Amino acid sequence: MKKFKTLDDADVSGKRVLLRVDLNVPMKDGVVTDKTRIERVLPTIREISEKGGRVILLAHFGRPKGKPNADMSLERVAPVLSEMLGQPVGFADDCIGPVAAGIVAALTDGDVVLLENTRFHAGEEANDPDFVDALASLGDVYVNDAFSAAHRAHASTEGLAHHMPSYAGRTMQAELEALEQGLGNPERPVVAVVGGAKVSSKIDLLQNLVSRVDALVIGGGMANTFLAAQGISVGKSLCEHDLADTARAIVEAAKAAGCEIVLPTDAVIAREFKAGAASETVDVHAVPDDAMILDAGPKSVEVVNQWLDKAKTLVWNGPLGAFEIAPFDKATVAAARHAAELTRAGKLVSVAGGGDTVAALNQAGAAADFSYVSTAGGAFLEWMEGKALPGVEVLKA
Ligand code: AMP
Repeated sequence: MKKFKTLDDADVSGKRVLLRVDLNVPMKDGVVTDKTRIERVLPTIREISEKGGRVILLAHFGRPKGKPNADMSLERVAPVLSEMLGQPVGFADDCIGPVAAGIVAALTDGDVVLLENTRFHAGEEANDPDFVDALASLGDVYVNDAFSAAHRAHASTEGLAHHMPSYAGRTMQAELEALEQGLGNPERPVVAVVGGAKVSSKIDLLQNLVSRVDALVIGGGMANTFLAAQGISVGKSLCEHDLADTARAIVEAAKAAGCEIVLPTDAVIAREFKAGAASETVDVHAVPDDAMILDAGPKSVEVVNQWLDKAKTLVWNGPLGAFEIAPFDKATVAAARHAAELTRAGKLVSVAGGGDTVAALNQAGAAADFSYVSTAGGAFLEWMEGKALPGVEVLKA
């Protein structure tokens, strides 16, 4: 049974459709440097437009803190969107008030208009009822296609859904279906790979995962904290020694839940954290005091890959090493490619997400073969933490 309403349930013909999208694209000197997020919203815009809906796009850009800010205007995104969509996209330089009302009133069926950054108004993040009313007066139907903003109960991500018939857009739908396959109702065994810099940013996530997955691979800088908590000396490695108790508690919780914790057994170390630094591979019990661990070693990767061979489902967040700097990307690249191969062969469902993870999988040339790669950062992490996302909850029928 479907848990939320989709465009299949919506009647958009001749209607003013308020469509929340994620256009928070990376930009340098006014030029969009990565169009992935724009690409992802095209199917929903096209479908509504082709069905005769009048598409009114709502989006945020950056963190203008409730005030207009020319550096965070969506005006420069409109022409890029228009070109990719292959149809004109109007622009209103305010998302509420007479400017927005005038442009919306002039729309005909199938037209598309982008309204200025919703976060130029403090009412957006406050989910202020007056601001929600002002937005709601512009539309008849609400569609949310911005999973990446669904962990926030803002006016355009949550408040609006209380005012009119509300639906998940196609990208939101694909995301929710993939996440359901990943952790909601996965085929077992499920393996989670969690890497990245610090345990402190992922405590809730680790605690949730140990009760839901069969094996939890811990990599990256955060693995050092777990090794140190077992009394292993990690030299000058990035390590949160003050979180030793937390790390031990997570290991205990895993044992109680029957979840295997997989830590590196060998490591690539260096004395300097820079490209081309002299490096060597050592057993994790033999890290010199003046060295730091910057990647998992080949034996560790072998173990990770064996777990992937056994798994039916993989959920991945965070790199296994300092992947931005060669040669410390090797473990991440090798494990990602192995997961990609298994997925291509139909043996594994692989779901990955979180900012750095997407970059790492792209670098490995593995992203395209994963079952689903989420471009959402915070929302993906909160989902991995097992939290209810307000923007999703409100769409549930
Ligand atoms: P996160 O944002 O928590 O997913 O962390 C990603 C960052 O962790 C990347 O920038 C990596 O370079 C970094 N990282 C991963 N492993 C290590 C390590 N062993 N030492 C230092 N930084 C690391």
